[in-house]
Amino acid sequence: MSTASKPKPTTASKRKPTTTQQGLGWRHQQRAEQLRRRHHDGAACDWCGKPMYLDARRNWDHDPDKRASGTLHADHGAMTRAQAIRLGIPIPLPDRLLHGRCNQQRGDGVNDHLAASKRETPAVTADARLLMPWPWQA
Ligand SMILES: [Zn+2]
Repeated sequence: MSTASKPKPTTASKRKPTTTQQGLGWRHQQRAEQLRRRHHDGAACDWCGKPMYLDARRNWDHDPDKRASGTLHADHGAMTRAQAIRLGIPIPLPDRLLHGRCNQQRGDGVNDHLAASKRETPAVTADARLLMPWPWQA
């Protein structure tokens, strides 16, 4: 068994990662801005299939009692930050927007099978453990 190509961990990696190392640094923020500029209001969320709006108050997850709720989050669709960190590769830039709540629900990608928009038929079973009523009913 060969582990020759695996880089040795350095002492630096034991320090608390910066936002850049977490993939949330300046480049991430620039890309998030770019995604927002290119966003077409009403475009469907990849996760829940509901329309996304730059105006947080128009999004389904907006809660007037919660600060910053309803804002769109930049998300790594192809590979999550957690996956990249596990694989030890540079964290890719975000490539899409999701509702804030959808992004939280997606977590590090382990819940991808729950994405409503990826299903051709309703796949929710009676014994499924859900964090919220799903599919979403407005
Ligand atoms: Zn959504």
